[in-house]
Amino acid sequence: KLDFHPSGRHFLQIPGPSPVPDRILRAMSLPTIDHRGPEFGALGLDLLAKVKKVFKTEHPVIIYPASGTGAWEAALANTMSPGDQVLMFETGHFATLWQKMALRLSLTPEFIGLPGYDGWRHGVQADMIQKRLEADPEHAIKAVCVVHNETSTGVTSDIAAVRRAIDAVGHPALLIVDTISGLASADYRHDEWGVDVTVSGSQKGLMLPPGISFNALSPKAIEVSKTAQLPRSFWAWDEILEANQKGYWPYTPSTNLLYGLNEALDMLLDEGIDHVLARHQRWAAGVRTAVEAWGLEVQCQDPALYSPVLTGVVMPEGVDADAIRKIIYERFDLSLGMGLGKAKGKMFRIGHLGDCNDLTLIATLGGCEAGMKLAGVDLQGSGVLAALDYFANHPLEADASG
Ligand code: PLP
Repeated sequence: KLDFHPSGRHFLQIPGPSPVPDRILRAMSLPTIDHRGPEFGALGLDLLAKVKKVFKTEHPVIIYPASGTGAWEAALANTMSPGDQVLMFETGHFATLWQKMALRLSLTPEFIGLPGYDGWRHGVQADMIQKRLEADPEHAIKAVCVVHNETSTGVTSDIAAVRRAIDAVGHPALLIVDTISGLASADYRHDEWGVDVTVSGSQKGLMLPPGISFNALSPKAIEVSKTAQLPRSFWAWDEILEANQKGYWPYTPSTNLLYGLNEALDMLLDEGIDHVLARHQRWAAGVRTAVEAWGLEVQCQDPALYSPVLTGVVMPEGVDADAIRKIIYERFDLSLGMGLGKAKGKMFRIGHLGDCNDLTLIATLGGCEAGMKLAGVDLQGSGVLAALDYFANHPLEADASG
């Protein structure tokens, strides 16, 4: 409960759900139409074609009326058989949840990672994956599953390097990648990186409310799904692919969320995906400048892997990040992401994705700075002023073309 009467807009700066632009809200407010009628079929065909461009794929993209967790399950249920070994890499809380899901689905996940808390401050180590696959000449491992943008830490992973590691040993395992929080904010290339199944969701870079999620497929994944034995019905790709040929789904789709998706795709494609990505990189750099000026650390310890989507801000020893978040929420009506799992209480996360701009981020940093001051955190300097300078001195156009 806020300790004042809120006015103006709530600042939703968690790393998803991200703020939904008015243009998308308006598109979703149109009357629901017959999902078997001709108008819907045309919409379905149009958005199924456009969504491929965001994944950078020529191959089919499945859309589920489910949150990202559903699409995680779909990726495994369509490609794996009971007991199959899958190699997963511990990058943070979401990688851990996916591994737990694999266990519940009766798979045999092997969860490798850097020792201790290090894995939560770095990305996937492709050399460790290569070494493990080298030790599997029988090809018992059926899939390598990694998270592209670990939302719990603000660390991305080099997916092309994981593909090279698999190819270097000529291993046939599928490459399954979660870019639920990376798509349309962080560089992602389904075809070029040789990903077999990409999992994503609506409520992050696509700027939609939660409720739809995706599996982008490769021809190999579709082939493997024909003999995979895990039970599936709702998630099964085959009937969806067939219905999608005419722009329909085998069940009632989320019609109004699809209106929103269509609008989001138009917005992203009109702007140009590369411009959208440059915008995110610049915001992230501005936010990191603020963290540095405060004299604090970011969670990610590998500068090449800083997330353009969110920044994890590590609190000094003895400071409870959740207590800071509570002050910031109560005093400034600003929501920040909490530390999840092993990071609980150690850091908070600033989302800088989707429908933001320089000034909403300056306000966000202002809320963080004021909240930390109120809590008595010893700050070296003003992050807000540092970020203002950064944004003033780094116009987007120069960054986008450079
Ligand atoms: N994977 C990642 C990287 C996520 O960020 C999330 C949600 O934040 C999920 C999986 C789970 O998705 P959902 O909460 O939409 O089911």
